[in-house]
Amino acid sequence: MIQRIDLHLHSDASDGAVSVEVLIARAALSGLTTIAITEHDNVDSWERGRAAAKQNGIHIRPGIEISTRADNQDIHLLGYEFSPESAGLRDLIDHQSLLRRKRFQAMLKRLKEIGVHLSASNIHTEKTHAPGRVHIAQAMVDAGIVPDVESAFKKYLRYGRPAYVPHETISPADAIRLVHEAGGFVSLAHPVFSRGGEHLCENLADAGLDAVEVLHPKHTLALQKKLIHFCERRNLLTTGGSDWHGTLGETYDLGEGFLRGNGSGGAASARASLSKILQNVEPVRPAKR
Ligand SMILES: [Zn+2]
Ligand SMILES: [Zn+2]
Repeated sequence: MIQRIDLHLHSDASDGAVSVEVLIARAALSGLTTIAITEHDNVDSWERGRAAAKQNGIHIRPGIEISTRADNQDIHLLGYEFSPESAGLRDLIDHQSLLRRKRFQAMLKRLKEIGVHLSASNIHTEKTHAPGRVHIAQAMVDAGIVPDVESAFKKYLRYGRPAYVPHETISPADAIRLVHEAGGFVSLAHPVFSRGGEHLCENLADAGLDAVEVLHPKHTLALQKKLIHFCERRNLLTTGGSDWHGTLGETYDLGEGFLRGNGSGGAASARASLSKILQNVEPVRPAKR
């Protein structure tokens, strides 16, 4: 049987727009057979998603997107196939949640300092475990300060803009170690958003990275080829996903990704379970950009 896979999805438990249940129903409607919900620094959607996945007849695998920091930039790592009960991972999630809330408050303070006041009634973070820039941007839209989320980022929240506050977080090497200790493997998310290109990938591979997210809607075919070449050279797995958030302005649908792999990088147990996923995988909708 052909498996259709999307290994990079977000619900409103982090910065996506729809609930875990709606996300899974959408995934099933799109013909996906296996998904991983990769919330920012959280694995709660795994628990919630299992029941919904069963109802919709699709497989859900444990996933997480961990914000790390190195070389003066945010680096997102995707963790897969780990044990969600791992104590080390639970500690990491608690730690990251605390830092996220601190950063969130710091950004609101910066905005206040430059005369942008957001009232609590505009800020909706009740459902999320990962309050962040998207929630502030949405509050600015609701308050009529900017016309859309994109403008909020461009004018205030992006790196180098007045309300930008860097992530205070762990190093990629520490995140990789924790996921490995939990029995999982780690893929570099959307390398297109990171500075440093192959040099960065080399450093992460030296730190124990197992895979690279090759297929992502923002990756050109040329970049995909380059990344596949790199993975073959360093014997890494390749992963893919749509990074779908269900938000307005997103120009791609969920399911725009697939997973390919015959590399031998990664923890042995993760490889074994991954090889099961990998049987008969075909592209869902390869990126043309
Ligand atoms: Zn990301
Ligand atoms: Zn993501």
